[in-house]
Amino acid sequence: MELFKGQNLLEFAARFRSDEDCKEYLAGIKWRSTFNCVKCGHHGSQIRKDHSRTCNKCSHTESASANTLFHKVKFGLRKAFFICFEMSTTTKSLSASYVAERFGVTEKTARLFMHKVREAMKSSENYPMDGNVEVDEFVVGGKEKGKVGRSYDVKKKKAVCAVEYTDDGKVKRMYSMKIDNFSAKELKKIFVKHISKEANVTTDKWKGYWPIMSDYQIEQIESDFGNNFQKLHTMIHQVKSWIRTTYSWVSDFNIDRYFAEFCYRLNRSQSKNNIFNNLIERMVGADKIYQVELICR
Ligand SMILES: [Zn+2]
Repeated sequence: MELFKGQNLLEFAARFRSDEDCKEYLAGIKWRSTFNCVKCGHHGSQIRKDHSRTCNKCSHTESASANTLFHKVKFGLRKAFFICFEMSTTTKSLSASYVAERFGVTEKTARLFMHKVREAMKSSENYPMDGNVEVDEFVVGGKEKGKVGRSYDVKKKKAVCAVEYTDDGKVKRMYSMKIDNFSAKELKKIFVKHISKEANVTTDKWKGYWPIMSDYQIEQIESDFGNNFQKLHTMIHQVKSWIRTTYSWVSDFNIDRYFAEFCYRLNRSQSKNNIFNNLIERMVGADKIYQVELICR
């Protein structure tokens, strides 16, 4: 099976004309190497017309979308593929109401499916940053200056972010995550998840980083009102304004998903040709997720 490459919407629409085309694509990824029966573990199978497989041993039939994040997508795989294409290739903010309007689904349906896509966009945490890294903490949301009447959620959310640079100082990768406060215990979370102990880390002089210095190579420099961390602060500004313009309200429960979406695209800006396929691979590889896990309780 030929993988879909590029960002051309017409080519995309020509390749995926029906739900069947999408099923075929999913089956090609899911059973690329071998079929593995979920019921009995047998490898032999019959390929059916709708691209599902029936186990030769126990006769269990598995659809191409079963046990993936496309599991039981009610509005059709083609729409789901288009939303994935849009979310992986866009450079703009994409809200659930926009997606609902464009693809003819309800806003709730769009929001739930987009959260599934964000789940797939989460970092594997398998490739920690090991070069020159800057780390800083920041706040998101809350009441903005000059805007009145926002009665809901005036509490700002705390977050930490790490940016890795190339040898010539360009932004290479970024990760961001919600934390409860700016203590060492909370700040350390991003180190454990995303930063190698070999990385050269720079922070401002916040004492919250002191206890982390025994495990990681951290140099502290004066922030000089942000002048010494200009690129880092530009990135923080971008993620904050992206969240603010896209989502009028982001819950504590979901904010890490929005960070995941932003960082996923940013970290693949050099490999946009493969980004759609990468996302589909992740959607297939991820376990199915239940609605209850996607909604703030
Ligand atoms: Zn079986």
